[in-house]
Amino acid sequence: MSNKQFIERTLVILKPDAVQRSLVGETIKRFENLGLKFAGIKLALAKKEDVRMHYTVDPDWIKITGEKAKKAKEKQGINVSESAEEIGERVLESLIKFMTAGPVVVMVIEGAHAVPLVRKIVGSTEPLSSDVGTIRGDYVFDSYEMADTNNRAIRNLIHASSDIESAKKEINIWFDENELLNYSTAQERFIYDIDIKNILQ
Ligand code: GDP
Ligand code: MG
Repeated sequence: MSNKQFIERTLVILKPDAVQRSLVGETIKRFENLGLKFAGIKLALAKKEDVRMHYTVDPDWIKITGEKAKKAKEKQGINVSESAEEIGERVLESLIKFMTAGPVVVMVIEGAHAVPLVRKIVGSTEPLSSDVGTIRGDYVFDSYEMADTNNRAIRNLIHASSDIESAKKEINIWFDENELLNYSTAQERFIYDIDIKNILQ
């Protein structure tokens, strides 16, 4: 196959809300439609420690998320006495509770530019502002405001790795090497090959 150097793997998790709302087929269809394929896929019950590890593969995530949430509150004129770390830790605790509430579908998606392509299909973090046409924009309408009012995790259906380095670390948390397969699909010839031959008889 040509274009091998562009092939990436990314980790996707269909969160418990996606499984409960029977959106598994609807969501993975979008990755297949684009020509990406699964290197691995399974139904799983997430362990608390795995969810914590997953969201802290970037050691700054707690602080960055806390700062973002704090700024958003202050913009609304709400004074926040907690530190960014405390807020971030609270978001993480609510995520752990949410992600372990029921089965999730974990998958490794592979293809050229898989990491940014999957993020594009997934949409931005807060469903209220995710673009129409994205998974988060089309199937859910939760907001930070609603989530915070009830002190719960935002229901945004799906996780997708943000960059190649975190994808590698996240894949290691959820999959053993022998659960990931190397194979080709029929359509890849039309996506990646330089010459398309042998169609006409
Ligand atoms: P993602 O990469 O788009 O999933 O977003 P992040 O990596 O920034 O955050 C991971 C997850 O944490 C998100 O999918 C949300 O479920 C949750 N999250 C992030 N920021 C906030 C926030 O400010 N408030 C709440 N309630 N949840 C958040
Ligand atoms: Mg992220």
